[in-house]
Amino acid sequence: MSTKYVYYFGGTSSDGRSDMKNLLGGKGANLAEMCNIGLPVPAGFTITTEVCTYFYDNNRQYPEALRAQIEEALKKTEDEMGAKFGDPENPLLVSCRSGARVSMPGMMDTVLNIGLNEQTLKGLIKKTGNERFAWDSYRRFVQMYGDVVLGMKPQTKEDEDPFELLLHKMKKKKGVHLDNELDTDDLKKLVKQFKKAVLDRTGKDFPDDPMEQMLEAVGAVFQSWGNDRAVVYRRQYNYPHTWGTAANICSMVFGNMGDDCATGVAFTRDPATGEKVFYGEYLINAQGEDVVAGIRTPNKIAELKIAMPEVYQQLDDIRNKLEKHYRDVQDIEFTVQKGKLWMLQTRNGKRTGFAGVRFAVDMVHEGLISKEEAISAGRIPPDDLNQLLQPIFDPEAKRKAVEEGRLLATGINAGPGAATGKIKFYADDAEAYVNSFSRDANGKLPEDAQVVLVRQETSPEDIRGMQVATGILTAFGGASSHAALVSRQMGKVCIVGCGDLKIDYKKRTVTAGGKTLKEGDWIAIDGFSGEVMEGKVATKPSEVVQVLISKTMKPEESKVYQQFAELMSWADDVRKLKVRTNADQPDQAAAAIAFGAEGIGLCRTEHMFFDHILPMREMILSSNTEQRKAALEKLLEFQRSDFAGIFRAMKGKPVTIRTLDPPLHEFLPTLDQKDKQKEVAKMIGVSPKSIEKRIKELHELNPMLGFRGCRLGNVFPEITEMQARAIIEAACDVAKEGIAVEPEIMIPLVGFLPELKAQVKLVHAIAEKVFAEKGTRVKYLVGTMIELPRACVAAAEIATEAEFFSFGTNDLTQTTLGISRDDYGSFIRHYIENDLVKKDPFQVIDFDGVGALMKLGVEKGRSVKHDLKIGICGEHGGEPDSVKFCHRIGLNYVSCSPFRVPIARLAAAQAVLEEKNKK
Ligand code: PEP
Ligand code: MG
Repeated sequence: MSTKYVYYFGGTSSDGRSDMKNLLGGKGANLAEMCNIGLPVPAGFTITTEVCTYFYDNNRQYPEALRAQIEEALKKTEDEMGAKFGDPENPLLVSCRSGARVSMPGMMDTVLNIGLNEQTLKGLIKKTGNERFAWDSYRRFVQMYGDVVLGMKPQTKEDEDPFELLLHKMKKKKGVHLDNELDTDDLKKLVKQFKKAVLDRTGKDFPDDPMEQMLEAVGAVFQSWGNDRAVVYRRQYNYPHTWGTAANICSMVFGNMGDDCATGVAFTRDPATGEKVFYGEYLINAQGEDVVAGIRTPNKIAELKIAMPEVYQQLDDIRNKLEKHYRDVQDIEFTVQKGKLWMLQTRNGKRTGFAGVRFAVDMVHEGLISKEEAISAGRIPPDDLNQLLQPIFDPEAKRKAVEEGRLLATGINAGPGAATGKIKFYADDAEAYVNSFSRDANGKLPEDAQVVLVRQETSPEDIRGMQVATGILTAFGGASSHAALVSRQMGKVCIVGCGDLKIDYKKRTVTAGGKTLKEGDWIAIDGFSGEVMEGKVATKPSEVVQVLISKTMKPEESKVYQQFAELMSWADDVRKLKVRTNADQPDQAAAAIAFGAEGIGLCRTEHMFFDHILPMREMILSSNTEQRKAALEKLLEFQRSDFAGIFRAMKGKPVTIRTLDPPLHEFLPTLDQKDKQKEVAKMIGVSPKSIEKRIKELHELNPMLGFRGCRLGNVFPEITEMQARAIIEAACDVAKEGIAVEPEIMIPLVGFLPELKAQVKLVHAIAEKVFAEKGTRVKYLVGTMIELPRACVAAAEIATEAEFFSFGTNDLTQTTLGISRDDYGSFIRHYIENDLVKKDPFQVIDFDGVGALMKLGVEKGRSVKHDLKIGICGEHGGEPDSVKFCHRIGLNYVSCSPFRVPIARLAAAQAVLEEKNKK
């Protein structure tokens, strides 16, 4: 039998099911499923994703067998709907809608009202008795087909859409504001003008043959899989370009045939806050795109209860049925045609981090899902937890802003959080502006790089600008407009439908509340309340942070915290990986413990030295051992008390302290910092000239591969001796206070076994000395970082001396790829955008290269010590996909920055579940 390319759905049975998303796309599979469970769906058929991949592989051709299969499914559709495609008497109209296996909201194209021409139009007029409606449908069809299939788009960003321009002219001529105020004659004229515009621009007549229209529309939908915005979207979410989209041919039903018609979109629960309320909006006498495009601001779904009580009741029943069936919050589209309800789509609803957590926890309590399902990656991508930890506006600062008259307007609160940024009106300008800044060592952009994208409405073309913006503000649209959906998924602060904003794109100004702000002015938006304020507004920590860290809120006062805590406890029950933190100060350590850290995986001692820079400089610039020892003596005091503080904060949890690692020049005054040179000269008692000379001597061309890591402690053993003494003395002192201590001393950048051996010997010798002096002993380990390819390859040898390994994937990535961790910013964007690398390798472990070396390191290390404790402390330790990889290769723990600890805990639990599901 030849391949099945077309799957029919309609009535109460269909060829497909909800678990056939790979073949039918999410939309097609769910349309089929809705028929299977008895919901009213206009009949139609799905052309599979395989046809799309065939189309791309075969020079934009369809497979031979497709046409016959389409004709067969179309016949069934016609029988079900009681109308005939292309029939001048009783025409069936169809839509062609994209639908990939994952939803990519608004990224691909759709064409409605296919099948209309001058003949079928007559049939439609006769059938509906509504000439104006029929001409309006035809007008919309020519416009949409012209745009999507014939590529009639604005040619520059300031140009208007060619069809919208004609529409505006017509409205102006007639002195009306809304499309629906145009009469039949106006619409007839418009269709004529539209068709002429098509002929002028494409050199061809607008096509009349319904079958040609359908096949061309399918081709355009397939083409839209490859458009820029869809490609960018897939890259962001790591979806393969090879998947392709399905095309769904659905019978048209109309929400714009009169006041007994409507169209709407809704979520079965609130996708912004997670509250269990029916949440959505509708428009009477309108087509679906009117609601989503944000041209008219729609009514809240609750009002439908009054406007169409029976329909509302039926819809509410469907809402419950769908949630029970799919066991997740659904995002639905519906149309009411002459009082009859039709379901056009259902899919798992996109949600904010807040809503994701609340849905999951509530649904466990409702008995709808298990705890394991609640914490699965499909329901809560770990990074979404970030939103619960993000700052909110300080209520005091906000109150003051309002008192000062800086409240400009209030819109719909579509994406929670607080954002302050400079106004940009165009997505590409926002992108260029933000990209002109560089990130600091922690990957943070400066405050000036924060942008709020202010637009009438957003469209899928704006995705890149939305990605870089801190917040998004639109004048039009409702809670399910493009801006709202996309920002919610990106975790951006977002306000939509802020009708009081008057945006002048040409002048690049926005006016509201009697004030006019220019591009580049500061604006603050509160995505919880929908308030828009002029200028900057100070933020304060999130509720979770207030409960856990600043303790300015009690757990019982914060529902968000309670849900977060419950969810995290379920993750902890499942995960096997331990989660530690990278912290150098007692307060950071305490914050990390509050977030659930189970130890310190990396204490970078050099960060402590930044607070004692003078004796540190003295130590580095010493030209003989005597001088160096004198400086180290001073540092010993500071280090001992810093370590004691950390041991106390960690209360018996393991603390991995790394001996000095970075290139020394990081601590030195530069050649032009004469004052600082003098300061050090005075301290050591030498001439400023000799300091300058020493700085020159220490200069390195390639410091990252230079005199750093264990090379320092090997050339200057007194440095390691001082640090080992500070650690062991602090540990003994704190143990004497009755607090348990678990120090782990870690030697960095080891490549050769003798490098480690010498350092281990030195540490043990000092430890023994300190124990004798103090008359007490503590248990401690000495291990090494694995951050050079040689260390992975020679891990069996290295393990003979190391009591633990910790992968330093920042340096391991740098040295494996030969890419400087400090200099790769200049080309990495180009690499990602051109698919030369999948992800930034300094954020997500390069599994095939760096990851393979890690795997080798684990195997070799454990071939010598089968229970060798192994962790990771590079930045990747808080990135969900990398955490899952670490689980798979059998690490004992990951270590990450304090605010990423909850994310790593959840990712570690998901790693266990994903492994279980694979088996
Ligand atoms: C690493 O290289 O991964 C690491 C943790 O060390 P640092 O970033 O301090 O070089
Ligand atoms: Mg390193």
